[in-house]
Amino acid sequence: MKIQEKFKNQFYQKIFFLFFILFLGILALLFENKYYYSGKGELIFFDVGEGDSIFIKTPQNFTILIDGGPSKKIIYDFSEVLPFWNRKIDLVVLTHPHSDHLLGLNEVLKYYKVGEFWFTGVLTDDPNYHQLINLIKEKNIPTKIIKMGDFKKFKDGSYLEILWPQDSIYQRKVNDLNFYSVVCRFRFGKNQFLFLADINDKVEKEILKKFNLDVQLFKVLHHGADDSILEDFVAKIHPDYALISVGKNNKFGHPSSKTLSLLEKYNVKILRTDQLGKIVFIFNNQGIEKEFNKSTFLTNIFLFIKIIKEWKKLIYLTLLAT
Ligand SMILES: [Zn+2]
Repeated sequence: MKIQEKFKNQFYQKIFFLFFILFLGILALLFENKYYYSGKGELIFFDVGEGDSIFIKTPQNFTILIDGGPSKKIIYDFSEVLPFWNRKIDLVVLTHPHSDHLLGLNEVLKYYKVGEFWFTGVLTDDPNYHQLINLIKEKNIPTKIIKMGDFKKFKDGSYLEILWPQDSIYQRKVNDLNFYSVVCRFRFGKNQFLFLADINDKVEKEILKKFNLDVQLFKVLHHGADDSILEDFVAKIHPDYALISVGKNNKFGHPSSKTLSLLEKYNVKILRTDQLGKIVFIFNNQGIEKEFNKSTFLTNIFLFIKIIKEWKKLIYLTLLAT
């Protein structure tokens, strides 16, 4: 009798575990599914050292990655922001094939499924760039050669558009890859976020002439280099936030004091990845709702990792129990 009861109890335990997993699975789908509209999006500047890597999650969970930084570090960053069951990025953009923007993308392409890959198709002899092109071919990733005017509108109304380069540089060799790097603008509701890659002041002038910019946040061009930022540009786009993606004690002296004092003059809030680590914004259709950095966000990350670990444990336990 006792043995029978024990068996019965074990059976109910297994059933309970299975239903619990099913319940968690449904929750996961709900939060990751493209049909679930949260009304809030995330914009993350990864701390990749001297380089750029920017991640956007739209309110309906579409994911965009602009550049991958100079190393494999991006993979660890990703595991913190995307749950382990989600291995897909909807859109990846390479602004230009310099190693501080490109190298991490080779890793991303190896481990994640990419819905679409956007780049200018410029020619360079860099073997890492060739590796990237080969990976794209190997994995049959749909590509798009981009230039000014190209855009993608997501179902939730968010919008990514290309503001530069003006003309296609597909299959062309250019003298200055920075000059031809891709400038993107992301829009959702009242938000306009501007990502300036490594362009220079000449491109700033062109962009000012061609577009009506009313920007909440912009990624400062070329890691805050001395020769890059124009006073006229800052005055006209009047952003609330300036993001500088830059390495600690880098050999280039980025960001320059000239850039910093110009931003201060216009009361722009400066956020630097070398000082704050990963920087996260939560936005809704009215504007930026919250901003996290190392000090505040770490607590959330630890909590998140803890939850993930618990999930893994739970699945193992259930498998063992069944
Ligand atoms: Zn760069």
